[in-house]
Amino acid sequence: MARNTKILSDKELFEKTKGIVEHAINAKINLTFKRGGNFCQYHPTSENKKSHEKVYTINIATPAVKGINKYTALLHELGHVLYKSPFTPIKKLLGKSKNHSFYFSIFNVLEDHRIESHLSENYIAYRKRFENTCNALGRELEDQITFDPLYILLAIRFNQEEKVKNAKNFIHYKKALDDVKNTDEFGGLRVFISIKKYIEEDISLDSTDTGIHSKHSDNSELKDNSTPTVRSKHQTEMIENVSKQEGTKKIDQQKKAKKYASKELEILNSEKISIPDELLQESFDDIEIKKILENGKIQGKQQFEEIQERMLSAGTVSENLPSNVTKIERNETEYTIDYKVSSNLNKLFKKLKMKNKPYVDYQGYEIDIEEYVNNLIRGININKSFEDRKKSQGSSIVISIDGSTSMNNERIKIAQKLVATIYESLKGISEIEVKGNIWAGNEMGDVGITEINSMNDVKKITTGSLEGGYFSTPTHMGLEYSGRMLKKMKGEKKLLILITDGCPNHYKNKTNLQSVHYNKVCKKSLEKVLQITPNVLFFIVANEEYSGDYFNKLFGQKRIIYVNNMNKAFDKVVKQFKNFMQYNAMNFF
Ligand SMILES: [Zn+2]
Repeated sequence: MARNTKILSDKELFEKTKGIVEHAINAKINLTFKRGGNFCQYHPTSENKKSHEKVYTINIATPAVKGINKYTALLHELGHVLYKSPFTPIKKLLGKSKNHSFYFSIFNVLEDHRIESHLSENYIAYRKRFENTCNALGRELEDQITFDPLYILLAIRFNQEEKVKNAKNFIHYKKALDDVKNTDEFGGLRVFISIKKYIEEDISLDSTDTGIHSKHSDNSELKDNSTPTVRSKHQTEMIENVSKQEGTKKIDQQKKAKKYASKELEILNSEKISIPDELLQESFDDIEIKKILENGKIQGKQQFEEIQERMLSAGTVSENLPSNVTKIERNETEYTIDYKVSSNLNKLFKKLKMKNKPYVDYQGYEIDIEEYVNNLIRGININKSFEDRKKSQGSSIVISIDGSTSMNNERIKIAQKLVATIYESLKGISEIEVKGNIWAGNEMGDVGITEINSMNDVKKITTGSLEGGYFSTPTHMGLEYSGRMLKKMKGEKKLLILITDGCPNHYKNKTNLQSVHYNKVCKKSLEKVLQITPNVLFFIVANEEYSGDYFNKLFGQKRIIYVNNMNKAFDKVVKQFKNFMQYNAMNFF
Protein backbone atom coordinates (compact mmCIF):
# COMPACT_ATOMS: atom_id res chain seq x y z
CA MET A 1 0.00 0.00 0.00
CA ALA A 2 3.02 2.26 -0.18
CA ARG A 3 2.24 5.45 -1.96
CA ASN A 4 3.71 5.84 -5.39
CA THR A 5 5.48 9.18 -5.08
CA LYS A 6 6.06 9.31 -8.80
CA ILE A 7 2.34 9.82 -9.28
CA LEU A 8 1.51 11.77 -6.18
CA SER A 9 4.31 13.93 -4.86
CA ASP A 10 4.47 14.86 -1.18
CA LYS A 11 3.42 18.36 -2.05
CA GLU A 12 0.40 17.12 -3.99
CA LEU A 13 -0.56 14.76 -1.18
CA PHE A 14 -0.37 17.58 1.36
CA GLU A 15 -2.33 19.96 -0.86
CA LYS A 16 -4.98 17.37 -1.64
CA THR A 17 -5.43 16.44 1.99
CA LYS A 18 -5.67 20.07 2.97
CA GLY A 19 -8.11 20.69 0.12
CA ILE A 20 -10.58 18.13 1.42
CA VAL A 21 -10.68 19.82 4.82
CA GLU A 22 -10.99 23.27 3.22
CA HIS A 23 -13.92 22.07 1.21
CA ALA A 24 -15.58 20.35 4.14
CA ILE A 25 -15.64 23.36 6.41
CA ASN A 26 -15.43 26.25 3.96
CA ALA A 27 -12.02 27.40 5.06
CA LYS A 28 -8.86 28.63 3.45
CA ILE A 29 -5.78 27.00 4.88
CA ASN A 30 -2.33 28.33 4.07
CA LEU A 31 0.29 25.66 4.39
CA THR A 32 3.77 26.79 5.34
CA PHE A 33 6.88 24.70 5.80
CA LYS A 34 9.02 26.73 8.12
CA ARG A 35 11.46 25.95 10.86
CA GLY A 36 10.23 25.64 14.41
CA GLY A 37 7.12 23.79 15.46
CA ASN A 38 4.00 22.41 13.91
CA PHE A 39 1.15 24.74 14.56
CA CYS A 40 -2.26 25.85 13.48
CA GLN A 41 -3.26 29.48 13.66
CA TYR A 42 -6.63 31.06 13.10
CA HIS A 43 -6.75 34.38 11.24
CA PRO A 44 -9.72 36.56 11.88
CA THR A 45 -11.31 38.02 8.79
CA SER A 46 -13.15 41.28 8.93
CA GLU A 47 -16.93 41.07 9.18
CA ASN A 48 -17.65 43.06 6.06
CA LYS A 49 -15.63 40.74 3.89
CA LYS A 50 -17.87 38.99 1.42
CA SER A 51 -16.52 35.52 1.85
CA HIS A 52 -17.45 33.63 4.97
CA GLU A 53 -14.38 31.54 4.65
CA LYS A 54 -12.39 30.95 7.77
CA VAL A 55 -8.68 31.47 7.29
CA TYR A 56 -5.94 29.42 8.93
CA THR A 57 -2.23 28.98 8.66
CA ILE A 58 -0.80 25.57 9.32
CA ASN A 59 2.92 25.26 9.64
CA ILE A 60 4.56 21.92 9.16
CA ALA A 61 7.91 22.07 10.91
CA THR A 62 10.67 21.81 8.35
CA PRO A 63 12.89 20.05 9.14
CA ALA A 64 10.45 17.78 10.93
CA VAL A 65 10.27 17.69 14.70
CA LYS A 66 12.02 14.59 15.95
CA GLY A 67 9.53 11.78 16.25
CA ILE A 68 6.76 13.50 14.28
CA ASN A 69 6.28 12.50 10.67
CA LYS A 70 5.34 15.51 8.57
CA TYR A 71 2.17 14.04 7.14
CA THR A 72 1.05 12.94 10.58
CA ALA A 73 1.73 16.48 11.74
CA LEU A 74 -0.46 17.78 8.93
CA LEU A 75 -3.31 15.43 9.81
CA HIS A 76 -3.03 16.45 13.43
CA GLU A 77 -3.12 20.17 12.67
CA LEU A 78 -6.00 19.67 10.25
CA GLY A 79 -7.73 17.83 13.08
CA HIS A 80 -7.64 21.04 15.12
CA VAL A 81 -9.32 22.89 12.27
CA LEU A 82 -11.83 20.16 11.57
CA TYR A 83 -12.83 19.50 15.15
CA LYS A 84 -12.83 23.19 16.03
CA SER A 85 -10.23 23.46 18.75
CA PRO A 86 -11.32 26.62 20.58
CA PHE A 87 -7.81 27.88 21.30
CA THR A 88 -8.68 31.56 21.31
CA PRO A 89 -11.60 31.48 23.77
CA ILE A 90 -9.71 29.08 26.00
CA LYS A 91 -6.67 31.34 25.99
CA LYS A 92 -8.90 34.18 26.96
CA LEU A 93 -10.45 32.20 29.77
CA LEU A 94 -7.20 30.76 31.09
CA GLY A 95 -5.34 34.02 30.54
CA LYS A 96 -7.01 35.38 33.62
CA SER A 97 -5.45 32.76 35.84
CA LYS A 98 -2.03 33.10 37.30
CA ASN A 99 -0.99 29.71 35.97
CA HIS A 100 -2.30 30.38 32.51
CA SER A 101 0.64 29.08 30.50
CA PHE A 102 0.77 25.94 32.50
CA TYR A 103 -2.97 25.46 32.33
CA PHE A 104 -3.00 26.11 28.64
CA SER A 105 -0.35 23.47 28.13
CA ILE A 106 -2.46 20.99 30.05
CA PHE A 107 -5.50 21.98 28.03
CA ASN A 108 -3.44 21.45 24.91
CA VAL A 109 -2.53 17.88 25.84
CA LEU A 110 -6.20 17.12 26.41
CA GLU A 111 -7.15 18.86 23.20
CA ASP A 112 -4.58 16.92 21.18
CA HIS A 113 -5.88 13.72 22.64
CA ARG A 114 -9.42 14.73 21.80
CA ILE A 115 -8.84 15.55 18.15
CA GLU A 116 -6.73 12.47 17.59
CA SER A 117 -9.49 10.33 19.05
CA HIS A 118 -11.88 11.73 16.46
CA LEU A 119 -9.41 11.31 13.64
CA SER A 120 -8.75 7.72 14.69
CA GLU A 121 -12.40 6.85 15.11
CA ASN A 122 -13.00 4.86 11.97
CA TYR A 123 -9.65 4.38 10.64
CA ILE A 124 -7.05 2.00 11.90
CA ALA A 125 -4.17 3.45 9.89
CA TYR A 126 -4.71 6.81 11.56
CA ARG A 127 -4.63 5.24 14.94
CA LYS A 128 -1.34 3.63 14.04
CA ARG A 129 0.12 6.91 12.82
CA PHE A 130 -0.76 8.73 16.01
CA GLU A 131 0.28 5.78 18.17
CA ASN A 132 3.67 5.71 16.53
CA THR A 133 4.07 9.43 17.06
CA CYS A 134 3.02 9.17 20.69
CA ASN A 135 5.41 6.29 21.26
CA ALA A 136 8.26 8.18 19.64
CA LEU A 137 7.57 11.25 21.78
CA GLY A 138 7.27 8.97 24.80
CA ARG A 139 10.76 7.70 24.20
CA GLU A 140 11.95 11.30 24.31
CA LEU A 141 10.32 11.86 27.65
CA GLU A 142 12.99 11.89 30.34
CA ASP A 143 12.52 10.30 33.72
CA GLN A 144 11.75 12.72 36.51
CA ILE A 145 11.92 12.51 40.26
CA THR A 146 8.86 14.62 40.97
CA PHE A 147 5.79 14.69 38.81
CA ASP A 148 3.61 17.54 37.84
CA PRO A 149 0.21 17.12 36.19
CA LEU A 150 1.51 18.03 32.77
CA TYR A 151 4.24 15.43 32.95
CA ILE A 152 1.79 12.81 34.15
CA LEU A 153 -0.65 13.58 31.35
CA LEU A 154 2.06 13.54 28.73
CA ALA A 155 3.47 10.28 30.06
CA ILE A 156 0.04 8.65 29.89
CA ARG A 157 -0.72 10.11 26.47
CA PHE A 158 2.66 8.96 25.18
CA ASN A 159 2.22 5.42 26.52
CA GLN A 160 4.76 5.76 29.32
CA GLU A 161 2.40 5.05 32.17
CA GLU A 162 4.96 3.09 34.17
CA LYS A 163 6.92 6.31 34.63
CA VAL A 164 4.10 7.96 36.55
CA LYS A 165 1.79 5.29 37.84
CA ASN A 166 2.88 5.92 41.44
CA ALA A 167 1.82 9.54 41.27
CA LYS A 168 -0.88 10.33 43.78
CA ASN A 169 -3.51 11.42 41.29
CA PHE A 170 -2.45 9.16 38.44
CA ILE A 171 -5.83 7.48 38.25
CA HIS A 172 -7.61 10.80 37.74
CA TYR A 173 -5.33 11.88 34.92
CA LYS A 174 -5.69 8.53 33.27
CA LYS A 175 -9.43 8.89 33.46
CA ALA A 176 -9.14 12.42 32.07
CA LEU A 177 -7.48 11.18 28.91
CA ASP A 178 -10.28 8.68 28.45
CA ASP A 179 -12.96 11.22 29.27
CA VAL A 180 -11.72 13.63 26.64
CA LYS A 181 -11.95 11.13 23.81
CA ASN A 182 -14.68 11.74 21.25
CA THR A 183 -16.03 14.80 23.00
CA ASP A 184 -17.23 18.06 21.47
CA GLU A 185 -15.11 21.14 20.84
CA PHE A 186 -15.25 22.06 24.52
CA GLY A 187 -14.32 18.58 25.66
CA GLY A 188 -10.81 19.70 26.53
CA LEU A 189 -12.21 22.38 28.81
CA ARG A 190 -14.80 20.05 30.30
CA VAL A 191 -12.13 17.59 31.29
CA PHE A 192 -9.81 20.34 32.43
CA ILE A 193 -12.51 21.47 34.83
CA SER A 194 -12.96 17.90 36.03
CA ILE A 195 -9.29 17.55 36.99
CA LYS A 196 -8.63 21.09 38.11
CA LYS A 197 -8.63 20.25 41.80
CA TYR A 198 -6.06 17.51 41.26
CA ILE A 199 -3.92 19.83 39.18
CA GLU A 200 -3.95 22.42 41.89
CA GLU A 201 -3.19 19.86 44.55
CA ASP A 202 -0.26 18.56 42.52
CA ILE A 203 1.09 21.98 41.70
CA SER A 204 1.22 22.89 45.34
CA LEU A 205 2.96 19.62 46.20
CA ASP A 206 5.32 20.04 43.31
CA SER A 207 6.19 23.62 44.18
CA THR A 208 6.76 22.69 47.82
CA ASP A 209 9.23 20.10 46.60
CA THR A 210 11.11 22.46 44.37
CA GLY A 211 10.73 25.36 46.70
CA ILE A 212 9.97 27.86 43.99
CA HIS A 213 6.26 27.92 43.71
CA SER A 214 4.20 29.74 46.26
CA LYS A 215 0.98 28.25 47.49
CA HIS A 216 -2.08 29.65 45.89
CA SER A 217 -5.77 29.66 46.48
CA ASP A 218 -7.81 26.90 44.91
CA ASN A 219 -10.83 29.01 44.33
CA SER A 220 -11.89 30.20 40.89
CA GLU A 221 -8.44 29.86 39.46
CA LEU A 222 -9.83 30.18 35.97
CA LYS A 223 -11.20 33.59 36.70
CA ASP A 224 -8.23 34.83 38.61
CA ASN A 225 -6.77 38.03 37.33
CA SER A 226 -3.41 37.85 39.02
CA THR A 227 -0.10 38.18 37.24
CA PRO A 228 1.76 35.16 35.91
CA THR A 229 3.56 33.20 38.60
CA VAL A 230 7.09 31.94 38.63
CA ARG A 231 7.05 28.40 37.43
CA SER A 232 9.12 25.54 38.69
CA LYS A 233 11.98 24.52 36.45
CA HIS A 234 10.38 21.40 35.20
CA GLN A 235 7.05 23.04 34.65
CA THR A 236 8.86 25.35 32.30
CA GLU A 237 10.52 22.41 30.64
CA MET A 238 7.23 20.65 30.26
CA ILE A 239 5.64 23.69 28.70
CA GLU A 240 8.49 23.84 26.24
CA ASN A 241 8.06 20.19 25.59
CA VAL A 242 4.42 20.70 24.74
CA SER A 243 5.03 23.67 22.51
CA LYS A 244 7.73 21.68 20.76
CA GLN A 245 5.22 19.01 19.96
CA GLU A 246 2.42 21.41 19.35
CA GLY A 247 3.50 24.86 18.40
CA THR A 248 0.53 26.91 19.41
CA LYS A 249 2.06 30.22 20.22
CA LYS A 250 3.17 30.71 23.75
CA ILE A 251 0.86 33.02 25.57
CA ASP A 252 3.66 34.67 27.52
CA GLN A 253 5.36 35.80 24.38
CA GLN A 254 2.15 37.06 22.92
CA LYS A 255 1.35 38.96 26.08
CA LYS A 256 4.74 40.56 26.21
CA ALA A 257 4.60 41.85 22.71
CA LYS A 258 2.46 44.94 22.85
CA LYS A 259 1.87 44.97 19.16
CA TYR A 260 -0.28 41.89 19.59
CA ALA A 261 -2.55 43.61 22.03
CA SER A 262 -4.94 45.08 19.49
CA LYS A 263 -4.75 42.06 17.26
CA GLU A 264 -5.69 39.78 20.09
CA LEU A 265 -8.82 41.75 20.73
CA GLU A 266 -9.74 41.45 17.11
CA ILE A 267 -9.39 37.70 17.27
CA LEU A 268 -11.67 37.51 20.25
CA ASN A 269 -14.33 39.64 18.67
CA SER A 270 -14.42 37.80 15.42
CA GLU A 271 -13.99 34.21 16.48
CA LYS A 272 -17.52 32.97 16.66
CA ILE A 273 -17.05 30.17 19.14
CA SER A 274 -18.02 31.16 22.63
CA ILE A 275 -17.79 28.96 25.67
CA PRO A 276 -21.14 27.57 26.84
CA ASP A 277 -22.46 28.96 30.08
CA GLU A 278 -22.49 25.57 31.74
CA LEU A 279 -18.69 25.67 31.65
CA LEU A 280 -18.31 29.17 33.03
CA GLN A 281 -19.33 28.57 36.61
CA GLU A 282 -17.12 29.66 39.46
CA SER A 283 -16.93 26.12 40.78
CA PHE A 284 -18.34 22.71 40.07
CA ASP A 285 -19.46 19.92 42.32
CA ASP A 286 -19.05 16.25 41.43
CA ILE A 287 -22.55 15.93 40.04
CA GLU A 288 -22.10 18.96 37.82
CA ILE A 289 -18.78 17.65 36.61
CA LYS A 290 -20.33 14.31 35.76
CA LYS A 291 -23.02 16.15 33.82
CA ILE A 292 -20.68 18.36 31.79
CA LEU A 293 -18.54 15.35 30.90
CA GLU A 294 -21.61 13.45 29.73
CA ASN A 295 -22.76 16.39 27.64
CA GLY A 296 -19.33 16.52 26.05
CA LYS A 297 -19.63 12.92 24.93
CA ILE A 298 -23.14 13.35 23.61
CA GLN A 299 -22.35 16.51 21.68
CA GLY A 300 -19.03 15.08 20.58
CA LYS A 301 -20.81 12.19 18.92
CA GLN A 302 -23.18 14.53 17.09
CA GLN A 303 -20.33 16.76 16.01
CA PHE A 304 -18.32 13.83 14.78
CA GLU A 305 -21.22 12.62 12.66
CA GLU A 306 -21.81 16.07 11.26
CA ILE A 307 -18.19 16.43 10.26
CA GLN A 308 -18.10 12.92 8.81
CA GLU A 309 -21.02 13.84 6.63
CA ARG A 310 -19.35 16.99 5.40
CA MET A 311 -16.17 15.12 4.73
CA LEU A 312 -18.03 12.58 2.68
CA SER A 313 -19.66 15.25 0.58
CA ALA A 314 -16.27 16.89 0.27
CA GLY A 315 -15.11 13.72 -1.37
CA THR A 316 -16.24 15.17 -4.63
CA VAL A 317 -13.27 17.49 -4.47
CA SER A 318 -10.96 15.21 -6.34
CA GLU A 319 -13.76 14.31 -8.69
CA ASN A 320 -14.25 17.90 -9.75
CA LEU A 321 -13.27 18.44 -13.32
CA PRO A 322 -9.93 20.10 -13.95
CA SER A 323 -10.55 23.76 -14.70
CA ASN A 324 -9.62 23.43 -18.35
CA VAL A 325 -12.19 20.71 -19.04
CA THR A 326 -15.58 21.68 -20.40
CA LYS A 327 -18.39 19.27 -21.07
CA ILE A 328 -19.62 20.12 -24.53
CA GLU A 329 -22.56 19.23 -26.73
CA ARG A 330 -21.82 17.74 -30.10
CA ASN A 331 -23.65 17.57 -33.38
CA GLU A 332 -25.66 14.38 -33.61
CA THR A 333 -25.59 11.86 -36.41
CA GLU A 334 -27.18 8.48 -37.06
CA TYR A 335 -25.13 5.46 -36.19
CA THR A 336 -24.87 1.96 -37.63
CA ILE A 337 -24.40 -1.37 -35.90
CA ASP A 338 -22.49 -4.39 -37.13
CA TYR A 339 -25.13 -6.92 -36.14
CA LYS A 340 -23.12 -9.92 -37.17
CA VAL A 341 -20.37 -8.97 -34.75
CA SER A 342 -22.73 -7.97 -31.99
CA SER A 343 -24.79 -11.15 -32.07
CA ASN A 344 -21.71 -13.37 -32.09
CA LEU A 345 -20.29 -11.53 -29.13
CA ASN A 346 -23.60 -11.64 -27.35
CA LYS A 347 -23.83 -15.44 -27.74
CA LEU A 348 -20.31 -15.79 -26.42
CA PHE A 349 -21.01 -13.62 -23.39
CA LYS A 350 -24.10 -15.53 -22.51
CA LYS A 351 -22.15 -18.77 -22.74
CA LEU A 352 -19.45 -17.36 -20.50
CA LYS A 353 -22.04 -16.22 -18.06
CA MET A 354 -23.59 -19.70 -17.87
CA LYS A 355 -20.28 -21.38 -17.39
CA ASN A 356 -18.90 -19.27 -14.62
CA LYS A 357 -20.03 -19.47 -11.08
CA PRO A 358 -19.71 -16.34 -8.98
CA TYR A 359 -16.12 -15.88 -8.07
CA VAL A 360 -14.11 -12.81 -7.46
CA ASP A 361 -10.40 -12.70 -7.50
CA TYR A 362 -8.67 -10.15 -5.31
CA GLN A 363 -5.12 -11.03 -6.08
CA GLY A 364 -3.02 -8.27 -7.49
CA TYR A 365 -5.49 -5.61 -6.59
CA GLU A 366 -3.81 -2.25 -6.97
CA ILE A 367 -4.74 0.48 -4.63
CA ASP A 368 -6.38 3.56 -5.99
CA ILE A 369 -4.30 6.47 -4.81
CA GLU A 370 -6.96 9.14 -5.01
CA GLU A 371 -9.46 7.07 -3.16
CA TYR A 372 -6.83 6.08 -0.67
CA VAL A 373 -6.12 9.73 0.10
CA ASN A 374 -9.80 10.53 0.29
CA ASN A 375 -10.43 7.70 2.69
CA LEU A 376 -7.38 8.57 4.67
CA ILE A 377 -8.43 12.09 5.36
CA ARG A 378 -12.09 11.34 5.75
CA GLY A 379 -11.21 8.77 8.33
CA ILE A 380 -13.01 6.00 6.56
CA ASN A 381 -11.90 2.52 7.31
CA ILE A 382 -10.15 1.63 4.12
CA ASN A 383 -10.86 -2.06 4.67
CA LYS A 384 -14.51 -1.21 4.53
CA SER A 385 -14.14 0.13 1.03
CA PHE A 386 -12.34 -3.05 0.09
CA GLU A 387 -15.29 -4.98 1.43
CA ASP A 388 -17.64 -3.02 -0.79
CA ARG A 389 -15.48 -3.72 -3.76
CA LYS A 390 -15.48 -7.40 -3.07
CA LYS A 391 -19.21 -7.45 -3.35
CA SER A 392 -19.20 -5.44 -6.50
CA GLN A 393 -18.96 -7.89 -9.32
CA GLY A 394 -18.93 -7.19 -12.97
CA SER A 395 -16.63 -5.24 -15.15
CA SER A 396 -16.32 -1.86 -16.80
CA ILE A 397 -15.05 -0.62 -20.10
CA VAL A 398 -14.46 2.91 -21.28
CA ILE A 399 -13.86 3.68 -24.93
CA SER A 400 -12.15 7.01 -25.29
CA ILE A 401 -12.21 8.60 -28.71
CA ASP A 402 -9.97 11.28 -30.15
CA GLY A 403 -12.32 13.93 -31.53
CA SER A 404 -9.66 16.04 -33.21
CA THR A 405 -10.19 17.36 -36.73
CA SER A 406 -8.20 14.56 -38.38
CA MET A 407 -10.70 12.00 -37.08
CA ASN A 408 -13.35 13.57 -39.31
CA ASN A 409 -15.60 11.59 -41.64
CA GLU A 410 -14.88 7.89 -41.97
CA ARG A 411 -12.75 7.56 -38.89
CA ILE A 412 -15.28 8.94 -36.47
CA LYS A 413 -18.12 7.05 -38.18
CA ILE A 414 -16.38 3.75 -37.64
CA ALA A 415 -15.58 4.64 -34.03
CA GLN A 416 -19.28 5.36 -33.63
CA LYS A 417 -20.23 2.03 -35.18
CA LEU A 418 -17.79 0.30 -32.87
CA VAL A 419 -19.33 1.74 -29.72
CA ALA A 420 -22.85 1.01 -31.00
CA THR A 421 -21.89 -2.58 -31.79
CA ILE A 422 -20.39 -3.12 -28.36
CA TYR A 423 -23.52 -1.78 -26.69
CA GLU A 424 -25.62 -4.08 -28.87
CA SER A 425 -23.48 -7.09 -27.99
CA LEU A 426 -24.07 -6.50 -24.29
CA LYS A 427 -27.83 -6.64 -24.39
CA GLY A 428 -28.93 -8.81 -21.51
CA ILE A 429 -25.45 -8.82 -19.99
CA SER A 430 -25.89 -6.41 -17.12
CA GLU A 431 -22.60 -7.39 -15.54
CA ILE A 432 -20.65 -5.32 -18.03
CA GLU A 433 -20.85 -1.57 -17.95
CA VAL A 434 -19.68 0.33 -21.02
CA LYS A 435 -19.18 4.05 -21.37
CA GLY A 436 -17.24 6.31 -23.65
CA ASN A 437 -16.03 9.82 -24.26
CA ILE A 438 -14.89 12.03 -27.13
CA TRP A 439 -12.39 14.76 -26.59
CA ALA A 440 -10.54 17.54 -28.42
CA GLY A 441 -8.81 20.75 -27.40
CA ASN A 442 -8.95 24.36 -28.50
CA GLU A 443 -6.18 26.89 -28.96
CA MET A 444 -6.61 28.28 -25.47
CA GLY A 445 -5.96 24.87 -23.93
CA ASP A 446 -9.53 24.03 -23.02
CA VAL A 447 -10.52 20.43 -23.55
CA GLY A 448 -14.06 19.81 -24.72
CA ILE A 449 -15.39 16.43 -23.65
CA THR A 450 -18.64 14.66 -24.37
CA GLU A 451 -19.58 11.59 -22.36
CA ILE A 452 -21.26 8.57 -23.85
CA ASN A 453 -23.23 6.83 -21.14
CA SER A 454 -25.58 4.60 -23.10
CA MET A 455 -26.64 3.55 -26.58
CA ASN A 456 -28.75 6.66 -26.61
CA ASP A 457 -25.64 8.86 -26.56
CA VAL A 458 -23.91 7.08 -29.44
CA LYS A 459 -25.35 9.59 -31.91
CA LYS A 460 -23.14 12.19 -30.25
CA ILE A 461 -19.97 10.49 -31.42
CA THR A 462 -18.96 13.12 -33.98
CA THR A 463 -16.03 15.50 -34.32
CA GLY A 464 -18.18 18.59 -34.69
CA SER A 465 -19.20 20.40 -31.53
CA LEU A 466 -21.92 22.99 -31.20
CA GLU A 467 -19.50 25.62 -29.94
CA GLY A 468 -16.77 24.77 -32.43
CA GLY A 469 -13.08 25.49 -32.06
CA TYR A 470 -12.03 22.10 -30.73
CA PHE A 471 -9.42 20.61 -33.02
CA SER A 472 -6.27 19.47 -31.16
CA THR A 473 -5.34 16.10 -29.59
CA PRO A 474 -4.97 16.52 -25.81
CA THR A 475 -4.47 12.81 -25.23
CA HIS A 476 -3.49 13.35 -21.60
CA MET A 477 -6.98 14.57 -20.75
CA GLY A 478 -8.59 11.78 -22.74
CA LEU A 479 -6.69 9.40 -20.50
CA GLU A 480 -7.34 11.17 -17.24
CA TYR A 481 -11.00 11.73 -17.92
CA SER A 482 -11.47 8.09 -18.85
CA GLY A 483 -9.71 7.11 -15.65
CA ARG A 484 -12.16 9.22 -13.69
CA MET A 485 -15.08 7.56 -15.43
CA LEU A 486 -13.70 4.07 -14.91
CA LYS A 487 -13.10 4.71 -11.27
CA LYS A 488 -16.76 5.35 -10.65
CA MET A 489 -17.86 2.35 -12.64
CA LYS A 490 -18.49 -1.10 -11.29
CA GLY A 491 -16.35 -4.14 -10.85
CA GLU A 492 -12.71 -4.68 -10.33
CA LYS A 493 -11.63 -5.64 -13.81
CA LYS A 494 -11.63 -2.56 -15.94
CA LEU A 495 -10.52 -1.83 -19.44
CA LEU A 496 -9.71 1.40 -21.18
CA ILE A 497 -9.58 1.52 -24.95
CA LEU A 498 -8.30 4.75 -26.42
CA ILE A 499 -8.66 5.36 -30.13
CA THR A 500 -6.58 8.10 -31.70
CA ASP A 501 -5.10 8.87 -35.07
CA GLY A 502 -2.50 11.45 -34.23
CA CYS A 503 0.33 12.41 -31.97
CA PRO A 504 -0.77 14.08 -28.75
CA ASN A 505 -0.71 17.84 -28.94
CA HIS A 506 -2.02 20.52 -26.69
CA TYR A 507 -2.21 24.32 -26.71
CA LYS A 508 -2.06 26.95 -24.05
CA ASN A 509 -2.92 30.56 -24.81
CA LYS A 510 -2.68 29.96 -28.53
CA THR A 511 0.74 28.36 -28.23
CA ASN A 512 1.38 24.76 -29.15
CA LEU A 513 3.14 23.07 -26.24
CA GLN A 514 6.54 21.68 -27.07
CA SER A 515 6.24 17.94 -27.43
CA VAL A 516 9.24 17.30 -25.20
CA HIS A 517 7.26 18.82 -22.33
CA TYR A 518 3.83 17.69 -23.34
CA ASN A 519 4.93 14.07 -23.67
CA LYS A 520 5.84 14.10 -20.01
CA VAL A 521 2.36 15.29 -19.16
CA CYS A 522 0.90 12.43 -21.20
CA LYS A 523 3.11 9.89 -19.50
CA LYS A 524 2.05 11.10 -16.12
CA SER A 525 -1.60 10.87 -17.11
CA LEU A 526 -1.08 7.28 -18.21
CA GLU A 527 0.56 6.52 -14.85
CA LYS A 528 -2.54 7.84 -13.13
CA VAL A 529 -4.86 5.70 -15.21
CA LEU A 530 -2.71 2.63 -14.61
CA GLN A 531 -3.45 3.06 -10.92
CA ILE A 532 -7.09 2.54 -11.76
CA THR A 533 -6.62 -0.30 -14.19
CA PRO A 534 -3.61 -2.01 -15.68
CA ASN A 535 -5.69 -2.73 -18.78
CA VAL A 536 -5.11 0.21 -21.09
CA LEU A 537 -5.00 -0.26 -24.83
CA PHE A 538 -4.23 2.37 -27.45
CA PHE A 539 -5.54 1.87 -30.94
CA ILE A 540 -3.43 4.08 -33.14
CA VAL A 541 -4.94 4.67 -36.55
CA ALA A 542 -1.70 5.37 -38.35
CA ASN A 543 1.10 3.64 -40.14
CA GLU A 544 3.41 1.97 -37.68
CA GLU A 545 6.43 2.81 -39.84
CA TYR A 546 5.92 6.52 -39.33
CA SER A 547 4.85 6.77 -35.79
CA GLY A 548 5.68 3.41 -34.23
CA ASP A 549 8.64 4.39 -32.16
CA TYR A 550 7.05 7.57 -30.96
CA PHE A 551 4.00 5.88 -29.43
CA ASN A 552 5.97 2.91 -28.14
CA LYS A 553 8.19 5.24 -26.17
CA LEU A 554 5.30 7.29 -24.96
CA PHE A 555 2.86 4.63 -23.80
CA GLY A 556 4.78 1.34 -23.94
CA GLN A 557 4.78 -1.12 -26.80
CA LYS A 558 2.62 -3.72 -25.10
CA ARG A 559 -0.28 -1.29 -24.86
CA ILE A 560 -0.26 -0.22 -28.47
CA ILE A 561 -2.09 -1.74 -31.37
CA TYR A 562 -1.53 -0.18 -34.79
CA VAL A 563 -4.20 -0.18 -37.39
CA ASN A 564 -3.74 1.26 -40.85
CA ASN A 565 -7.31 2.25 -41.12
CA MET A 566 -10.44 2.48 -39.06
CA ASN A 567 -11.96 -0.71 -40.41
CA LYS A 568 -9.02 -2.61 -39.02
CA ALA A 569 -9.38 -0.69 -35.79
CA PHE A 570 -12.95 -1.90 -35.60
CA ASP A 571 -11.97 -5.55 -36.00
CA LYS A 572 -9.13 -5.30 -33.56
CA VAL A 573 -11.09 -3.55 -30.87
CA VAL A 574 -13.78 -6.20 -31.17
CA LYS A 575 -11.16 -8.90 -30.87
CA GLN A 576 -9.54 -7.28 -27.83
CA PHE A 577 -12.89 -6.77 -26.22
CA LYS A 578 -13.70 -10.44 -26.76
CA ASN A 579 -10.32 -11.49 -25.33
CA PHE A 580 -10.79 -9.31 -22.33
CA MET A 581 -14.20 -10.82 -21.69
CA GLN A 582 -13.04 -14.40 -22.13
CA TYR A 583 -9.94 -13.94 -20.09
CA ASN A 584 -11.71 -12.27 -17.22
CA ALA A 585 -15.08 -14.00 -17.43
CA MET A 586 -14.56 -15.92 -14.21
CA ASN A 587 -14.09 -12.64 -12.42
CA PHE A 588 -17.18 -10.83 -13.40
CA PHE A 589 -19.96 -13.27 -14.00
ZN1 LIG B 1 -2.28 19.75 18.55
